[in-house]
Amino acid sequence: MTENTDTHIKKVVTRFAPSPTGFMHIGSIRTALFAYLFARKNNGTFILRIEDTDKEREVTGSIEHIIKSLSWIGIEWDYGPDKENPFGSCIQSERLDSYKAHALKLIEKGLAYPDPYTKEEVDMFRAQAESEKKPFLFRDHRPEAFEVWDETKPLRLKAPFIKRYTWQDAVRGELTAGEEAVDDIIIIKADGYPTYNFAHIIDDLNMKVTHIMRGDEFISSMPKFLSIYDSLEIPYPVFVTLPPILRDDRTKKLGKRDGAKDILDYKSEGFLPETMMNFLALIGWNPGTEQELFSKEELIEAFDITKIQRSGGAFNEEKLLWMNKEYLQKTSLDTQCVYLQEALPESLLASPLYSEAMLKRLVPTVIERIHVQTEIKEMAQAGEYDFAFFVPTTPFALLPWKNDTDQKAYIPRLEKAQELLLNADFSSPEAIKSALWEYTEEIGRGELLWPLRVALTGKEKSPDPFISAYIIGKEQTLLRLKNACGTIEP
Ligand code: GLU
Repeated sequence: MTENTDTHIKKVVTRFAPSPTGFMHIGSIRTALFAYLFARKNNGTFILRIEDTDKEREVTGSIEHIIKSLSWIGIEWDYGPDKENPFGSCIQSERLDSYKAHALKLIEKGLAYPDPYTKEEVDMFRAQAESEKKPFLFRDHRPEAFEVWDETKPLRLKAPFIKRYTWQDAVRGELTAGEEAVDDIIIIKADGYPTYNFAHIIDDLNMKVTHIMRGDEFISSMPKFLSIYDSLEIPYPVFVTLPPILRDDRTKKLGKRDGAKDILDYKSEGFLPETMMNFLALIGWNPGTEQELFSKEELIEAFDITKIQRSGGAFNEEKLLWMNKEYLQKTSLDTQCVYLQEALPESLLASPLYSEAMLKRLVPTVIERIHVQTEIKEMAQAGEYDFAFFVPTTPFALLPWKNDTDQKAYIPRLEKAQELLLNADFSSPEAIKSALWEYTEEIGRGELLWPLRVALTGKEKSPDPFISAYIIGKEQTLLRLKNACGTIEP
């Protein structure tokens, strides 16, 4: 037996570390998704960590919102605020001891010191630098002797190296920043909470995170982060900078003002979770094939860091709609029915003609004409589905076919249709069609199909009459034809 020599390869650990600010931008979900796919691809661990050290920005209910958003789209985490975990807690505000312990280590090494200045003094230094058109650097005011930290003052890192930093990014390659990007940053604030800059590094260390995936807005802070890694003498994880999500015209990042929504807004509009996962995975990641539709399993299988793009990916709304239609058409009839039912107004659902069986017959026609649930609502509002739920008042003036000189010519034709349909098979539109087709060909399509359509739906524009007849069923079909022939006074 040979020993497994692969033990030196570290198990992949990624994390998604949102701040509880009440909004789950689709860009954040895309970050979570990439970290998740990469972990799953490598049989690694995916952690959900809540970064709530900025108490001023915190919005109540955000953790639930984050959990709901990720769960809806189908991202599961191994450790998180709602799950047992070996780290004590996955919520930063519950991990303060850990940050303090590392801060004390830095003090001991002479690499951290309490900020001796008042806020006004620091503001003055900043104003002074501005007036001299110089970047403000706290380290220019670093005190000569450090006070003892009594935890009431901000604790700053004494940047260990004032130098140009160069580092590797798995997507962007070698990146570099000059020494003006290195400063004595605050690591623990006066309120006792750590800063994001410090806390995330300590957590990533304790949680053994191997790959950090995040947006490009963090690149400029990298020298500050690297100073912290260096001062704690801990190895760097792999940095994976994800490309931004751009507006469709690619002119800038997709912001709230450009219609960027919370992920759960897409849920309310009727986008399916499969759609959102597939769609977001393809923004900034290119599998390198023509394939566009990927199940979660296929995404995991295909995911590869080397195929993450450097440049931004556009948010193409048209593609999103197309994809949703694809998934809607693929999903089960039962799911489609629930989807339709959710979008229908009470006025239709309360109709005596409403039944599950009728909904099942109606749903394919509905799905064929829409991309997303909001369109169903609009169509229902416009009365497009009324024919299925209510017996229409026959619009007699509409019944004559345009080529007929005899305005009553439709009556014998519809009577004949009733006769042909009386014992016909109504199990599909095709079956209904075959019952009527010979006769239709004999007298002319418009001659029969036009009054048939008007009689069944009460409308000029409506689905094909065979489909309409199928949806409303035999009893309603015969009744409406009778009504149109005036046999029964409408
Ligand atoms: N809490 C940070 C944010 O919400 C996380 C950044 C990171 O992944 O390190 O942007």
